[in-house]
Amino acid sequence: MSIETATGVTVVTHPLVQHKLSYLRDKDTPTVHFRKLANELTLLLTYEATKDFPTEPDEIETPLERMEVRRIAGKKVAVCPVLRAGLGMLDGVLSLVSSARVGFIGLYRDEETLQPVEYYVKLPADLEQRDAIVLDPMLATGRSSAAAVTAVKQAGARSVTLVCLVAAPEGIDHMQSEHPDVRIVTAAVDRELNERGYILPGLGDAGDRLYGTK
Ligand code: URA
Repeated sequence: MSIETATGVTVVTHPLVQHKLSYLRDKDTPTVHFRKLANELTLLLTYEATKDFPTEPDEIETPLERMEVRRIAGKKVAVCPVLRAGLGMLDGVLSLVSSARVGFIGLYRDEETLQPVEYYVKLPADLEQRDAIVLDPMLATGRSSAAAVTAVKQAGARSVTLVCLVAAPEGIDHMQSEHPDVRIVTAAVDRELNERGYILPGLGDAGDRLYGTK
């Protein structure tokens, strides 16, 4: 269950997604629940993000008879969380796409300039044979997500999908100006950014809430 916004963003409106998101946003949700919810939400978003994976026929035998089945056609996936908050989404993807390779993109946001600073990139060697799913929970200014997508594209990924938990209109605009070919899948598009680059109403600092660092 999802809608495509006027700007082509996929917002997953499934009741389970919206229910879990409501707890993720709540300031009283403790770290232990926040972490679980972030992965559960990501799993549900991944279901949507992978809905166009092509399938091909195969034949198997049930205990009773032979039958034709459909299986995902030679699909190779790389999941690339943006450190550190994207790590809080990784298990959600891997629980559905367990054979995916994992790449890491270390970016932090300079709190004054709001510009992403790259400090670590380690991507699968065969990325040109893979479709990449970049994980960044908060699409805020969009600069970190866009920088992460650039790194994955430069390494040769066949296609890139960005999965985030909450997006701001400013972040969507930035991503679409830098990477119009990248599909964005999210649980919500919020109102705006505040002067410090936080999403309103948002859920606060995703990394701090995942790891209890504040
Ligand atoms: N990063 C976060 O963790 N939260 C925001 O609201 C914006 C960027």
